[in-house]
Amino acid sequence: MAVATLPTVKDFAVTDSHPDWCGGCGDFGILNAVKQALAQRGRAPHDVMVVSGIGCSGKLPHYVRTYGLHTLHGRVLNVATGVKLANRDLEVLAVGGDGDGYGIGAGYFVNSGRRNVDFTYLVHNNGVYGLTKGQASPTMQRGMQVKSMPEPAIIDAVNPIGLAISSGYTFIARGYAMAQRELVGLIVQAMEHRGTALIDILQPCPVYNDLLTIDFFRGRDIGHQRTYALADEGYDGKVHDPSNIDEIVAKQQAALAKSYEWGDRIPMGVLYQIDLPTFEDGVTSRRPEFEKTSLMDGARPGMDVSSLEDRFR
Ligand code: SF4
Repeated sequence: MAVATLPTVKDFAVTDSHPDWCGGCGDFGILNAVKQALAQRGRAPHDVMVVSGIGCSGKLPHYVRTYGLHTLHGRVLNVATGVKLANRDLEVLAVGGDGDGYGIGAGYFVNSGRRNVDFTYLVHNNGVYGLTKGQASPTMQRGMQVKSMPEPAIIDAVNPIGLAISSGYTFIARGYAMAQRELVGLIVQAMEHRGTALIDILQPCPVYNDLLTIDFFRGRDIGHQRTYALADEGYDGKVHDPSNIDEIVAKQQAALAKSYEWGDRIPMGVLYQIDLPTFEDGVTSRRPEFEKTSLMDGARPGMDVSSLEDRFR
């Protein structure tokens, strides 16, 4: 019997185009981590779909050799939801920026957390709208002024981790684009998690954000790396008994407290995780046939699938 070979990073590489990002951009680190994580996950490229919104991050599906869809500004989560429900065998990765997901897409962000469809959401968080020349994004702190801004920001920032906790995300983590090994591990963990998994990935934009630079994260000014791994300090964000409301509240409070830690020390890793029924579980409990049927059953690459859509009309 032939033994299927596991995919390698090369299997996910696009060789006929080069990423259209500025030199030194954290997007390269996230792209590399995605390809390595997909190889570790062991899914073939045709079993993976990468969906993106609009922004510099939105170009990522162009550079990964899987199925991909570059969608509208702020709508990546809606499309990822539809893709996963249409073909539950796919590994679905949603990719977007902080402006895309926490700004125009904020309503979808909240309701995707409530729904808990089984996919992974990677947010490239660099504090600016890089594609449109560096305006303040929803994660820029009040009072910050990067070189592209004539005056400091006058409104408060969104706390993505806090928003995710209150929205019901069942896996919430923070990564750093330049910490490859740790980021690959987080993406693999997020894909293995059953439910919607968010990784807020801090990412330098060397062209427009001259405050959150690689040197800042390295801690050149304070003499030590600012980012540190929560796991190294014994932090455990996983809820071990999902029926225990006291444990849930304690773990959510701990994650929220960690999300505000900023300055000389910035925590990385899984802040909160809980195993709860997914949206797919809910649909299956009402319509058992949902578990066995897929909109894409019988579909092959390249075929006209319009007749298959009738199944769910
Ligand atoms: Fe990266 Fe910033 Fe350039 Fe966009 S503008 S590609 S985020 S460095």
